[in-house]
Amino acid sequence: MIPLVKPYISPKEELMPEIEKVLYSGYIAEGEAAWAFEDDIRAFLGNDNVLATQSGTAALHLALLQLNIGPGDEVISTPMTSEPTNTTIAITGAKVVWADVDPATGLLDPASVRSKITEKTKAIMLVHYAGMVCDMDEFNKISKETGIPVIEDAAHAFGAKYAGRLVGSNSRFTCFSFQAIKHLTTVDGGAIAFNNPDDVVPVRKLRWFGLDKKVSRMENDVTRAGYKYGINNLTGIIGSVQMRHIGEVIGRHIENGKYYDGALYGVDGVTLVPYYKNTEPSYWLYTMKVERRDDFCKMMEEAGIAASPLHHRSDTHSVFADSKCALPNMDNWCESYVHIPCGWWVDGEAREKIVQTIKKGW
Ligand SMILES: *Cc1c(COP(=O)(O)O)cnc(C)c1O
Repeated sequence: MIPLVKPYISPKEELMPEIEKVLYSGYIAEGEAAWAFEDDIRAFLGNDNVLATQSGTAALHLALLQLNIGPGDEVISTPMTSEPTNTTIAITGAKVVWADVDPATGLLDPASVRSKITEKTKAIMLVHYAGMVCDMDEFNKISKETGIPVIEDAAHAFGAKYAGRLVGSNSRFTCFSFQAIKHLTTVDGGAIAFNNPDDVVPVRKLRWFGLDKKVSRMENDVTRAGYKYGINNLTGIIGSVQMRHIGEVIGRHIENGKYYDGALYGVDGVTLVPYYKNTEPSYWLYTMKVERRDDFCKMMEEAGIAASPLHHRSDTHSVFADSKCALPNMDNWCESYVHIPCGWWVDGEAREKIVQTIKKGW
């Protein structure tokens, strides 16, 4: 079976000696190796204001905490995502307010977001689902006009671009996940990138109990209780070795995605997803719409190819019962979207087989 997702792990000969060195170095907590990885992410994104985190969820939580979001506040978000985007909002005590998606892309519709803004709205949470980038021209406009900060959940969008730059310096906060199956994996990990350098120091403190690691323990004064959300040296070294291969890994996702964009265009029963102006996806998964999806997935599975919608819409969970509202475009999108394998493990032969299988019909 050609899988939809698969962890990329650097060659053993390269990774294991580095892991061993750190493990037996006598210093495995957050230190040089963790900071070196953080520098690797900064260099890759072209943004000096980045902090590594224990997970993508921790990155999202830190962004919400830095905005002092809590009970009585509203955060506008999308149900078209993996659960942590919205469970993280819920744990702050704020209310998730759903906006509808664009039925052509499954990504948040700026017009719907605009219509949901109230005086309680404290942030807009965007998800670059499957590596496709939201309509940032419009969202930048909304944020500028209203002063409401945007948090980009870019867990799927490492290596995607907006306005010619990598996603990760446009909005006030951009959160990445380096969990097992994302473009980059450090086993577990994440990062938060800022466009305002003033956010760095307070978030760095929130990442470590409220203490400032750059000041001696004796001179530290905790003014706001923080969390244990940083990374250790083992995560750091794994990340740095993995980063040596990231160009190649993301490059393969993008090359396969672009290939499908061409090869599947006009195929009977398939509707391709358009990408917004000024955006370039990093194709974590390849996303499209198909007629009779259950039949499509069954046909693909019989041919040895995984195909599925992967995530379940988040607005159906009981914990979000108070947020329930009509989302007709989301209903429509959920009936027909599907993912097909597109990652670094899909070679030329596999992707040709995938295209031919789809072209045969179902
Ligand atoms: C993976 C993921 C996260 C959370 O990342 P973790 O590193 O697993 O905490 C957040 N949002 C989305 C959309 C994700 O897919």
